[in-house]
Amino acid sequence: MRKPPDPMTASQRTLQNKVAKVCQLFEENVGEIDHPTTADPLASLVETLLSHNTNDRNRDIAFKNLLETYPDWEAVHHAPHEELAQVVRVAGLNRQKAKRIQELLAYVKETHGEYTADFLREMTFEEAVEELGHLKGMGFKTIAVVMCFTLGVDVFPVDTHVHRLSKRIGFVPEKYDAVKTFKAMRPLVPEGKSYQFHLHLITHGRQVCHARKPKCEECFVREHCLYYFQNNRN
Ligand code: SF4
Repeated sequence: MRKPPDPMTASQRTLQNKVAKVCQLFEENVGEIDHPTTADPLASLVETLLSHNTNDRNRDIAFKNLLETYPDWEAVHHAPHEELAQVVRVAGLNRQKAKRIQELLAYVKETHGEYTADFLREMTFEEAVEELGHLKGMGFKTIAVVMCFTLGVDVFPVDTHVHRLSKRIGFVPEKYDAVKTFKAMRPLVPEGKSYQFHLHLITHGRQVCHARKPKCEECFVREHCLYYFQNNRN
């Protein structure tokens, strides 16, 4: 369930229309993306913790190593810290990540009596933040990724690509950090489009709107893009 929106100002409504237009352009030019079926939210939380500051490939290898080394979450929870750190080493920041994974497992076991995060299935995004936000590594981005990708909640995660594109296109001011961008984008993304729009922007950031040299001449968004406008004025 989505939080009821606060009343919007005229400029917010203009922005909302802009986001809707760009969202629609992606749908028309790239296509619709089906939302996958739901998966285990605890596994998804651990996987997302492993994804911090690394690429998808290293995250996947680290997560696979973890699943192949330990028979269940209890074994991961009680594994010697240094051993777990070596198992997930490829993901980088491995000692910190091992600690955060074990803190998460300790928390769910102590609070819910078993190794599960299924309680998230009944929660809104705000409730999930209240439940897990005090744990290290459980910021808005991590919780939003799990709620959106794994549980199908209509919340729009902001990763590095989404953040960059949101600023360039002009959805949010250049000076906004990722948390401010996340909060600003929530009421702007059309209802039911969070997952698809997030993936469209990530792919566009990887393939077209590169951090260093965006390929604006190839970009179907350019007529709506602040960066393009600012860099192509005569
Ligand atoms: S026009 Fe350029 S800066 Fe704007 S979204 Fe496209 S590639 Fe990025």
